[in-house]
Amino acid sequence: MTPHCPNCGKEIGHLTYSANEIIVAKFTKDGKYVDETHADVDGKSIEYNCPECSESLFRSEADAKNFLTGKLQEAKTYGP
Ligand SMILES: [Zn+2]
Repeated sequence: MTPHCPNCGKEIGHLTYSANEIIVAKFTKDGKYVDETHADVDGKSIEYNCPECSESLFRSEADAKNFLTGKLQEAKTYGP
């Protein structure tokens, strides 16, 4: 069963993940970034948003996964 967004009510099969990540790379004289690695993620910036209305729905992977798999009965929303 496909979950519905608690904000816009549309069926959503996935969420949009966004986070501020610190990326470390070698910057060369050619102006290229080489060997990029994701050194760290700002945990406070992690958001799982509805792809339809962009509402921020979850802040933890566990909640997001439970929502998508239907294990979360009622979605907890954050913010106003
Ligand atoms: Zn929505």
